[in-house]
Amino acid sequence: MNKKHGMIIIVSSPSGAGKTSICDAIIKDDKNIVYSISTTTRNPRTGEKNGREYFFVDEKKFKQDIKTGKFIEWAKVHNNYYGTSKAVLQGALSKGKDVLLDIDVQGALNIRKQYKNALMLFIMTPTLKELKNRLVKRNKDSKETINTRIENAKKEIKYADKYDYLIFNDKLQESINDVKSVIKAERLSIKRNKIIF
Ligand code: 5GP
Repeated sequence: MNKKHGMIIIVSSPSGAGKTSICDAIIKDDKNIVYSISTTTRNPRTGEKNGREYFFVDEKKFKQDIKTGKFIEWAKVHNNYYGTSKAVLQGALSKGKDVLLDIDVQGALNIRKQYKNALMLFIMTPTLKELKNRLVKRNKDSKETINTRIENAKKEIKYADKYDYLIFNDKLQESINDVKSVIKAERLSIKRNKIIF
């Protein structure tokens, strides 16, 4: 039979749509999924820890990493750089692990070019107004940052039709269950399993 190769699961959403809560729940409940910790030049938010949410680096280091080919994809999002480590992604996949990538639409499309079978999920709030409410309520960003994020959300939503699944995150637990169901179905999908008799 075939050697098992892990699946790439990309989750994108405008910030504030609940993607982090969904990803955390998926990782916690499924031991075959590894979270891809990105590198970023943005400052850590309160409570964030280097090497857990992100690897936090300065712009000089990030640009060196681009040059040395560390990233399988990288992008500038909300005025900061973010990148996915090639070694972590490929290492986990070759061990048969699935890898969850929480990345923006640019990164998602870039990965899709390189991995045609990557599963792409787009998470959105039921409305843009609801997105703004959530960003204000979580109280993590300045008013200016929130406005930038809303403007970015409008742009990002235009790419939703490039994704395989669109999840409207109204009730968190339902959305988590939906994502779990999609992953389960995709694992059983014939197109992902090259069957050798
Ligand atoms: P935040 O700063 O709110 O954690 O993330 C901002 C945006 O950057 C989110 O849309 C997130 O998905 C995206 N992002 C995080 N890591 C990466 C990455 O490695 N590559 C790309 N392209 N986007 C990323």
